[in-house]
Amino acid sequence: MRLVFLGAPGVGKGTQADKVSALYGVLKVSTGDLLREAVRNKTALGVEAKSFMDQGKLVPDSVVIGLVRDKLGDPSCEKGFVLDGFPRTVPQAEELGKVLASRHIGLDRVINFQVSREDVVKRLTGRRSCPKCQATFHLDFAPPKAEGICDRCGSGLVQRSDDQREAIETRLKVYDEQTAPLISFYEQQGRLSNLDGGGSVDAVFQNLTKVLAACKTA
Ligand SMILES: [Zn+2]
Repeated sequence: MRLVFLGAPGVGKGTQADKVSALYGVLKVSTGDLLREAVRNKTALGVEAKSFMDQGKLVPDSVVIGLVRDKLGDPSCEKGFVLDGFPRTVPQAEELGKVLASRHIGLDRVINFQVSREDVVKRLTGRRSCPKCQATFHLDFAPPKAEGICDRCGSGLVQRSDDQREAIETRLKVYDEQTAPLISFYEQQGRLSNLDGGGSVDAVFQNLTKVLAACKTA
């Protein structure tokens, strides 16, 4: 099963991608994770990415697409993948189409998670992350067992700088300008399913599995 999850920052698509990955045995591919991994392992693309990140610049498409291309060729993606946070722009989506076409595969479904702007801001400002193992928590929706401590590895949790309010406004603006056009891009291809992302994690997941079950048998 090959999926793309679309939606504004904070709609919960990363959490849903984790659950889909666990249920169907497909790999969750997040470009944030790919970038961190490449920088940590000092791969050629990682070194290139870091030079942009160190200057506070956006990592260029060529680097991000290179990372995605390598990962999709990995045996861990044999059963499929969920792309979380990629593509972010129409040009990236076009490049992704080329990468998949070169492997003679296509996307099964693009899921567009819909959540009100007010809820998105609430979700983002409550997010806490583990700097060590990358686990994420939420003050209201998924609190850690002990306040401020990672359940998984015991490290202290932090609020990532891009989850702070001013950064969130900027991220949402960038999303509206660059990423929202992907919705019509995939709609025109007949691959898009809209999903109400407003309920609890479990309720959203239940609806998601219904949509995926329909595309699996199709
Ligand atoms: Zn941790």
